[in-house]
Amino acid sequence: MRWTITGEVLERLKAHACDARPRECCGLLLGRSGHVIAARPAANLATSPDRFELDPQAHVAAIRATRGSDVGVVGFYHSHPHSVPVPSQSDLAESTYPEALHVIIGYPTASEADVRAYLLRDGGYVEVELVRIEG
Ligand SMILES: [Zn+2]
Repeated sequence: MRWTITGEVLERLKAHACDARPRECCGLLLGRSGHVIAARPAANLATSPDRFELDPQAHVAAIRATRGSDVGVVGFYHSHPHSVPVPSQSDLAESTYPEALHVIIGYPTASEADVRAYLLRDGGYVEVELVRIEG
């Protein structure tokens, strides 16, 4: 399984994750199945610094904004400001969109961002190869 993501979007995700530190950031991924072509940042409503709760209004707004176009909401992203980009127990427990791509921007070290993508299903996850394309 592999998804493509444009270089521009990938850099935006890293910048958002970096700016939000030490808190987690989150947002929506737009595109077509298998292809991420845009991202929309969303407010993180969680009060705990190491959790995220994506503002549902941002989700609704993204669905509205893409209605009638050939792109839609294909997934979500969030960051792990202090750890590797691997789904946490709460990520697994709180995932309610089985078809969605979940991109995590992690910081295995303070200075190095690592971005990985997953599909969450049946209480587990499978890693998806994220292929950077120009655009
Ligand atoms: Zn997480």
